Amino acid sequence: MTEIGELLPPDRLMLTPGPSSVHPRIYRAMASTIVGHLDPWFLNMMMNEVQVLLREVFRTENRTTFPISSSGSGGIEASMLNPLEEGDEALICVNGSFSERMAEIAERTPARVTRVSAPYGRVVEPDDLRRAGKGRKIKVLGAVHGESSTSAASPLEAYRKVADELGALLVVDCVSTLGGMPIDVDRMRLDICFSGSQKALSSPPGLSPITVSPAAEEAIRKRKTKVQSWYFDLTTTMNYWGKDRTYHHTPAIPLLYAFREALRMVMEEGLEAMWERHSLNQHAFLAGLEGLGLKPFVENPAERMITVTAIAVPQGVDGKRVQQQLLEDFNIEIAGGFGPLKGKIWRAGLMGNTSRRRNVLLLLAALENVLVSQGYRVPSGAGVANAIRVYSEAGVAAAAK
Ligand SMILES: *Cc1c(COP(=O)(O)O)cnc(C)c1O
Repeated sequence: MTEIGELLPPDRLMLTPGPSSVHPRIYRAMASTIVGHLDPWFLNMMMNEVQVLLREVFRTENRTTFPISSSGSGGIEASMLNPLEEGDEALICVNGSFSERMAEIAERTPARVTRVSAPYGRVVEPDDLRRAGKGRKIKVLGAVHGESSTSAASPLEAYRKVADELGALLVVDCVSTLGGMPIDVDRMRLDICFSGSQKALSSPPGLSPITVSPAAEEAIRKRKTKVQSWYFDLTTTMNYWGKDRTYHHTPAIPLLYAFREALRMVMEEGLEAMWERHSLNQHAFLAGLEGLGLKPFVENPAERMITVTAIAVPQGVDGKRVQQQLLEDFNIEIAGGFGPLKGKIWRAGLMGNTSRRRNVLLLLAALENVLVSQGYRVPSGAGVANAIRVYSEAGVAAAAK
């Protein structure tokens, strides 16, 4: 028999669009003693605290706010399957692979789904949505806030206006943005909003926090047919996370411990401070890229995500080899493009615990080193220098550490 050794994963710096590197405090919480999912301490203390913290992070008073036991994609399933049934119509904004996924999931319901598309790297125009929905009874307008496959960020306020005009619920995938970009569920009136534990919240993968507005809850309650999925049926999972606390399925208890600590860390830092930290680090990173002669894939600065930056792979450079070398020589993982963007872009995540000045400077230096070793001519060699200038001009370098 082959000897299988002790588990020793490499110690990577994960600068990907998720998962992001996890803080030691969160690992410690995750290793805490397992109790039963119907233990009074768990039902009352643990679950309450997670929900209280989560409402603060989503900035909502929605009663229905809890982490679903699944990865971020489960949030897409829940948010499409619950409001949509036979006879309903949905408009889905499609401008990348994750919004494609949302459309595909919506199309598996009996509802009639219309895709409203934009080229990859752009966002769907609000007027295109208006035109598509005109004269129709649209129940759900679905969009991805941060389309991490291209790093384009959708204008949620404009989509809210369109949803109001159409009388539709606004359903938003905030998997890659919650915690790293300004989101205020109640003020922005997002009817269903969900995220993932492993992106800007820096918890391990496996949970999809979701929040549902009273209007969306009402729409779900008025359904004539049962929700297609038993596991993602919010009307029943809410009995476990709601007042009754009746058994539905066994949640991932250690992940909830981890998530509680991650949310506590968000609130300790403060949401606004966190958004500012992400914004400053992304600015410095973009300035550094410019110094290296590299271009962000999303051309319009107003349409760029803050947590993920896609970079066009320059002519003559082997994108995959650059990624491999970053991993081998520097222990840094960044992502490539997928779908139609395979080989054309890199995607660097500066999210949650990894959005730090030290990581920005290290990644810029490592990228330069790897590119030069592949024969790429760095125009000015000003990558790191440009980033340092952004930090010193901001005068708050310490805050971004
Ligand atoms: C990562 C991501 C998802 C999918 O999350 P999983 O946890 O991989 O299922 C969905 N939407 C967006 C915008 C993402 O960035």
